[in-house]
Amino acid sequence: MRKRIPVAAPALVGNERKYAQECLDSSWISSNGKYIGLFEESFARFNEVPHAVSCNNGTAAIHLALMALGVGPGDEVVTPTLTFVATANAVVYCGATPVFVDSEEATWNLDPAKLEAAIGKRTKAIVVVHLYGQPADMDAILAIARRHGVKVVEDAAEAHGATYKGRKVGSLGDIGAFSFYGNKVITTGEGGMVVTGDERLAARVRLLKGQGMDPARRYWFPVVGYNYRMTNIEAAIGLGQLEKIDWHIRRRRELAARYAELLEGVEGVELHRQAPQTEHAYWMTTVRLRGEVACKRDVIMEVMDRRGVETRPVFHPMHTLPMYASLARGGLPVAEAIAASGFNLPSYALLEDDDQKYVCDALKDVLRECR
Ligand SMILES: *Cc1c(COP(=O)(O)O)cnc(C)c1O
Repeated sequence: MRKRIPVAAPALVGNERKYAQECLDSSWISSNGKYIGLFEESFARFNEVPHAVSCNNGTAAIHLALMALGVGPGDEVVTPTLTFVATANAVVYCGATPVFVDSEEATWNLDPAKLEAAIGKRTKAIVVVHLYGQPADMDAILAIARRHGVKVVEDAAEAHGATYKGRKVGSLGDIGAFSFYGNKVITTGEGGMVVTGDERLAARVRLLKGQGMDPARRYWFPVVGYNYRMTNIEAAIGLGQLEKIDWHIRRRRELAARYAELLEGVEGVELHRQAPQTEHAYWMTTVRLRGEVACKRDVIMEVMDRRGVETRPVFHPMHTLPMYASLARGGLPVAEAIAASGFNLPSYALLEDDDQKYVCDALKDVLRECR
C-alpha cells in the first residue's frame, strides 16, 4: 500500500529539540523563562511591529485583541463569513455580535465593496482575515474603517510572512493576531501571538492574558483577566521555527508554484492565486472547481482520500453554522459558492516532489473519471 499523504504536517527541522530540551533540563517548563521573551522579540522584529505578546492559541489572540480594543456587550463586529470559526467565536466571547460580510471573487477575502453596508451605529471593530495566506485588500478596508471610526483587527492566523504592498500582514491594522497551531505556517504545538504598534493596547493584552494582575503590584487584580499564557517550552519550539521562517514560507510558495505548473490547463480547476501588490503566504494551496465538476467536490475529495491523498474542504461560511444561522442577512453568494466547490491540497514544507506529482495525477484522474 502506498503511504498516505496528509493535508498538513509540521516541519521541525531547526533548533526546536535543542531549545525544548533546554527547558526540561533547566526545569523552566511553565510560562516563565527566557524563551517567551526571545520568541516575542524575534516575532515582533520579523513582523516589523513594536510589540508582540504571546498567548496560548490563535483564538485567544483574537479574543485578547478584541478585548484590548474595548469590544463588549451591545457592540457589533464585522467579519468575513468565509473564515475559520474562531474568528466569529472570539467576537461572541466578548459578548458582542458578529456581522458577516461576503467574499471577493478574486481574493476570497472580505469584500470591501460590501463592507460599508454592514457597518452601523453599534459597529466597534472589523476583523479582517487573510484567508489561506492571501492578504485582504487592506487599503480599501482601512479607508472605510477610518471613515466610520471603527477599529481593525487582522486575523493573520494563516498568513505569517504574507505582505500587502510590501508590508507584513498583522502590522497594517490596529492590532493583529497569529496562530501557531500544528498545521500553521510555523507552529508551537498550540500557541498564539498578538502584535500591535500601540503600546497601550499591548499593555492591555499583557494584563488580560496574565489573569489581570497589575504589573506593578503582585497579586492585585484590577480587572477580570484570563489565563491565556504560552509556556516556555512552546516558545522554545516557536523560536526554533521562527529562526527558519524564511525557509518555511519559501517552501510553501514553491509548492504553490509547482501546483500551478502541474495543474496548468486542467479543465475545471482554478487555483486560489496571489492578488496584485501582495505576497501570498500559501499556508494552504487551495483549488476551486469550476463548471460541470464544481458540484462534485465531495465525491472528488472522497476518491482522492481512497487513493491516499488527504484534502480538506474550504470552511463552511459562518452564517451557515447552526449558532450563527439567525445572523444571516440575506445570501452571501460568493462565499457560499467558494465554500461549496473549494478544497485544500496537501501543503506542508516537507511535502516531497514525487508526492506532489502523485497528488496532481490523482486529481487529474479523478476529474476525468467524473466527467
Ligand atoms: C487557526 C485559525 C485560528 C485559531 O487559531 P488556534 O491557534 O487554532 O486557536 C483563527 N483564525 C483563523 C483564520 C485560523 O485559521
